[in-house]
Amino acid sequence: MRILLTGTGAADGIPAFAAESRVSNFAREHGGKDIRTRAAVIDDQLRLDFGPDTFAQVQKLNLHVRDWKAILFTHSHDDHYAPKELQYLFPPFVNGEFKPPTVYGNANILDGFEGSFGQASHLPRTLIKSFESSKILGYTVTPILAYHKLDEDSMNFIIQSDKTFLYATDTGVYQDATWEFLQGWKFDAAVIECTDGVRPTEYWGHLSCDELIGMVGRLRTMGCLSERSRVVTTHHSAAGMATHAELEACLNPHGIEVGFDGMLMEI
Ligand SMILES: [Zn+2]
Ligand SMILES: [Zn+2]
Repeated sequence: MRILLTGTGAADGIPAFAAESRVSNFAREHGGKDIRTRAAVIDDQLRLDFGPDTFAQVQKLNLHVRDWKAILFTHSHDDHYAPKELQYLFPPFVNGEFKPPTVYGNANILDGFEGSFGQASHLPRTLIKSFESSKILGYTVTPILAYHKLDEDSMNFIIQSDKTFLYATDTGVYQDATWEFLQGWKFDAAVIECTDGVRPTEYWGHLSCDELIGMVGRLRTMGCLSERSRVVTTHHSAAGMATHAELEACLNPHGIEVGFDGMLMEI
């Protein structure tokens, strides 16, 4: 399984649009791994979220959107879900034989496409629910309930082929139902958010470095992550007050790698 982290930023991205901060200014000056947009692709065919950065990622990373057969949406926050952008997957913006990808998401996601652009009703779409597995493009995809946007079925994804991968953006610290469901799962790799970095907040819907270390520790204790399992971060906010190098200094001693835009994981 090839996991391409096309983006590893939170809602504000880094550098944040208009914010002046040490981390944003460092990114503006140094570029490289400190520039963070949002979302991921599996095996060049399964897109995870489709936010407003997608077009720029396609250009920067030379991605082939015609190969994307399905899009899984985690939840409907704007940094993950830009429904109008999918209009460019329909004529007159595409030519020849082209079948738009099937979109998978919760009811808010699917309803949100209605009327969002002229041909939205032609977009193939399938409802998925937390804790119910589906076969998608030969993968078994099992959404699990995140503790994040509580007015909808906010999901993280377990994606299985010959390997088992956990994609956990916008998690918050899982609640009991999710921990219970995770008993017995074994992940070859996990990508987990670290939005709040070294500046914890009162908001429960995201993880700081300390909360991430706690969650990874619990997953290791449960046997869901082994010594061989790669753990990589994503969804970093400028408000987390840490540069890429500072995040590495905090997380690498705990066996956690810091993700960056364009990082390719092969598991
Ligand atoms: Zn987000
Ligand atoms: Zn969110």
